Amino acid sequence: KVKEQGRNGYRYYSAEFTRQAQQRIELEQQLREAIKQQQFVIYYQPQVRLDNCQIIGAEALVRWEHPQRGRLAPNEFIPLAEQTGLICKLGQWVLNEACRQMQTWLGAGYRLETMSVNFSKRQLTEGNFVEQVNQALRSSNLPASFLEMEIVESLIMEQSDEVMAALDELRLMGVSLAIDDFGTGYSSLAYLKQLPVGTLKIDRSFVRDIPDDPSDCAIVKAIMALADSLQLEVVAEGVETAEQATFLSDILCPKAQGYYYRPPISAQAFEALLRNSHSDGVARIIDQDIDY
Ligand code: C2E
Ligand code: MG
Ligand code: MG
Ligand code: MG
Repeated sequence: KVKEQGRNGYRYYSAEFTRQAQQRIELEQQLREAIKQQQFVIYYQPQVRLDNCQIIGAEALVRWEHPQRGRLAPNEFIPLAEQTGLICKLGQWVLNEACRQMQTWLGAGYRLETMSVNFSKRQLTEGNFVEQVNQALRSSNLPASFLEMEIVESLIMEQSDEVMAALDELRLMGVSLAIDDFGTGYSSLAYLKQLPVGTLKIDRSFVRDIPDDPSDCAIVKAIMALADSLQLEVVAEGVETAEQATFLSDILCPKAQGYYYRPPISAQAFEALLRNSHSDGVARIIDQDIDY
């Protein structure tokens, strides 16, 4: 009976807590099922060379085709997948599928350079990701040099020696490493010379207000200077306007990604884009104003 009283006393809190916990459990079950039934699709966002709008690659971005709720963006399920460990299976699927798709496009004669795949914390720390990457490359026949792993800057600092060694091993195989959301990690830059990093992806929060915001312009220029002296590639994320593209191009930023060029699009739409805009396999984005 005391128990009953206690429950009543915390009725609101307890009801809210129960509702959230139930939703979480339900979503987790659905996520498990979704992995079995392959309810995921990958959208591909073109990466372009800033000076000539050439499409040089794509970033693979996963979506969940939820049977009741429609297409869900990663922020609605990746955090739960990460907490529950389901990200490892999901990530393996994304990796396999992205490698297979890239090899298909290369085989069709499109001269792309990079397929970028996002890796989260658990994927690095649990299971053998070197073996996973190896297996994905083997089964797709994709040469390692076409694969780029993206890891967010905030994760880099926490990595153990084992993870660092594994990343080194992948680099020796030819896989490249990009630091995603660069500039948001509040971390020491010392890791840049210890890790086999090839590319910095400037976080879109720094791109949003260029060329109007002098601090953001200064930050982007500073990242460019850093990349230049360490001989790293740079991709500016979240380019939405011609003015941003012009500013970046003027400071010799080599690559960009953003809604100005294309949002992430389905594999079919990406292929149509390649097909309709290529000459001898080199595709360029010429119609920045098309809405998808
Ligand atoms: P991210 O890796 O930084 O990916 C870029 C995100 O910015 C994508 O969101 C993309 O749609 C969005 N974006 C691209 N251009 C623009 C732009 O011009 N303006 C704005 N406002 N946004 C732009 P998305 O697809 O919702 O993915 C969100 C995050 O989810 C990704 O951030 C990545 O961290 C994570 N994610 C996506 N796919 C995977 C995956 O397969 N595995 C893992 N572990 N994480 C993934
Ligand atoms: Mg990314
Ligand atoms: Mg990013
Ligand atoms: Mg981001």
